Formats: sequence, C-alpha cells, structure tokens
Amino acid sequence: MYSEVLHFIRSVFHEPEEFIPLHAPYFGGNEKKYLADTIDSTFVSSVGAYVNRFEEMMCAITGARYAIATTNGTIALHLALVVAGVKPGEEVITQPLTFVATANAISHANGIPVFVDVDRDTMGMSPEALRAFLEAHAEMSGGFAVNKHTGRRIAACVPMHTFGFPCRIEKIAAICTQWNIPLVEDAAESLGSYSNGRHTGTFGLAGVFSFNGNKTVTCGGGGALVTNDPGLAERAKHLSTTAKVPHAYEFVHDEVGYNYRMPNLNAALACAQLEQLPEILANKRDLAAQYGRYFSGSGNFTFVSELPGTNANYWLNTIVLENAAVRDELLQVSNAAKVMTRPIWQLMNKLPMYSQCMRGPLENALWLEERVVNIPSSYRPHASVALPSNAGTAENTN
Ligand SMILES: *Cc1c(COP(=O)(O)O)cnc(C)c1O
Repeated sequence: MYSEVLHFIRSVFHEPEEFIPLHAPYFGGNEKKYLADTIDSTFVSSVGAYVNRFEEMMCAITGARYAIATTNGTIALHLALVVAGVKPGEEVITQPLTFVATANAISHANGIPVFVDVDRDTMGMSPEALRAFLEAHAEMSGGFAVNKHTGRRIAACVPMHTFGFPCRIEKIAAICTQWNIPLVEDAAESLGSYSNGRHTGTFGLAGVFSFNGNKTVTCGGGGALVTNDPGLAERAKHLSTTAKVPHAYEFVHDEVGYNYRMPNLNAALACAQLEQLPEILANKRDLAAQYGRYFSGSGNFTFVSELPGTNANYWLNTIVLENAAVRDELLQVSNAAKVMTRPIWQLMNKLPMYSQCMRGPLENALWLEERVVNIPSSYRPHASVALPSNAGTAENTN
C-alpha cells in the first residue's frame, strides 16, 4: 500500500531516488539581483526601499489597506495582539491544533490561551465550537466579553488557516462581532488563500503572515501584519521600530517598543518571491490536483481539498488516514524511503506550558491529531502549468 503511494509521489516530482523534502523554497526570479541591490546601496538593515515595496506588495496581494513588515511571523502575531488591546492576564481564544507559535505569541503578549475545537474538514477553528464555548462560559460586562469562571476579559480570538485551507472565517468573524471580541487571524500559512474572493487575514482587526523558509514563499525569515485600521497600523509600525518619535537628531521614544522591523536584505528577497506568487500558487494547485485525482480512488486515505467558495494555496498537501493505527508506520516507511512526510502538530493543550489552559471539548482536534499526515508539497520546476488569469490577485479590497 505505501510503496505504491511513494512511487506516485516520486513520479510527480520526477525524482526516482533522491530525497524529496516536504517543502523546499523556490528561487526562480529576481532574488539575487535584488539582494545585490541592497548591498550596492549599503541599505541592508531596517531602513530601505525594499521594505516599503514589500509592504505595498502585501497590500496589493491581500487587499488590506496597510501592511507592516516584521522580522518573523511569530512577532507579527505578538505585535497584532498588543495593538488589538490584549493586556496581561486577559484571555485569548485560539485552536489547539496549530503550530506552537500561535500559542507562544499569545504568551509573549502576556495573554492566556484558551482552546476551542476545530472543524474536521478545514482543520481550522470551528465557529460552532467557538459559539458553544462563549455561550457556556462568557457573559457581556461593560461592553466586553468576560469569562464567567475566571473573571478575565476575553481580549482576542485567533483562528488559524491550517496548511493554507481557509477556516470558516466569515462565521467566526460574525461571532466575534456579536461578542465584541477583536479578531486577529493567524494567516501565517495562508498567503494566497481566499474565502469568497477575500484574502485570508483581512476578515478581522488584523492578520499576520510568515515568510519563514518552509512557507509558500520565503525571505529567510520575515513576517507581515495587515490591517484596514489606520490607527492600528500606525501604532504597530511605531511599536515595531522601538517606538521612536521622529526627530532630526534626538533619541525620543514614547513607550516600550520592539525591534521588530524587517531588514531590507530580507525584504529584497521577499519582493522577488512575491513577484512569483501567482506562478508558485498555480504550480502548487496543479500538484494538489494530481494528488487529489490519485487519492480519490483510495479507501485508505482522504486527500484534503478546499471547501466550495474558498481558494487554498495548498501550502502543505494533506492526507487523512482512515485507520489511525497505521500512521506511525506510514511516517517511518516514507521517511526511511527518503520521501519526507510529517504528522500534524501535537495539540497545544498536551504541551507542558499549555496543559493547564482552559478548553472546550476537543473531539475533532484529537481525531485529526491521530490521522493527519503532510506529503511533499514543493514547487516543481519541471511542471508545465497554465496560469489562471486572476491567480494571486485580490478580488475584493475591503
Ligand atoms: C510559521 C507559523 C507561524 C510563525 O511564523 P515564523 O515566521 O516562523 O515566526 C505562526 N503561526 C503558524 C500557524 C505558522 O505556521
């Protein structure tokens, strides 16, 4: 059973024997040229033309009015939570099935993570689970949602678009509006993913993206915060640049800020990568279509596909095993055969630092944790793919 799957994966990557990674970066454009520009100009650090250009490109791609470039996605999320108003000791609702950075960023903001279940099909936060948790445990007090049991304000909600599949974000946004809970999307994995024509990360107060080496496009390390709120954008940029007040020569800082701004070197790489985003997305969607056809006849695996009305970037292709008992064997056999596969993350509430956090019922997260495996998903330079005319463009700017 496995050897046939591994053979198929090797055939789509035109790679009969060498190691096939889960997700390798692809540098097929102006990367070297733009990097050389930064060195020639001496502007390699956090001031430079590419940083501004990167922010403009992120606005164009996502349709958000403002983008702030940061050194990575984790701190973009930290910054987003701070500017969204999370205060020490307040609660932030998120999903237990996520990369640890989501929960860590909440901790960095001195917030307390609270976990609600995911949907099985999107692997992202379940609006029903969110609603049920709030109805059971929250009440409105002074215009804010407060956890009745802990007395703490519920200061933000952070759903995550797992592996680039948009979660049911419109429904989540409506629930957050009803409870006056700021919505901050962890869109680290979903650059190029849309729900009903609107880019992920733009449904709430703020959204964050990552440009780490394993993501859809990379600049070595980098992140972005996007928002439509001018005041929030201004404060995020101010805090990300040591809260320095502009002055001809004096060092004036008006609050405790951070050194979070993306260097021009990384921004140069990011600009070159974003120029290729439509091509990379088309290439990845072609790979996903081939996987989808292959696994459609299989009784042992379900290939995860985008929901109707959504457009996934297929960052990491995902199969769900019918029989959870074979997961470890599949992981061992494939990795030993140099075809890289990975299980989904351990649930956050099972990690020592988050084991005491409050949570709702987590049936779907537990079910997925035992069954989800990611399979090789890199851009394939040999694939010949027709570009869809609207790939990577924002169809809705608001
Ligand atoms: C990658 C990732 C992050 C963090 O991004 P970095 O740039 O690596 O700090 C945050 N959340 C999720 C879900 C991620 O996958």
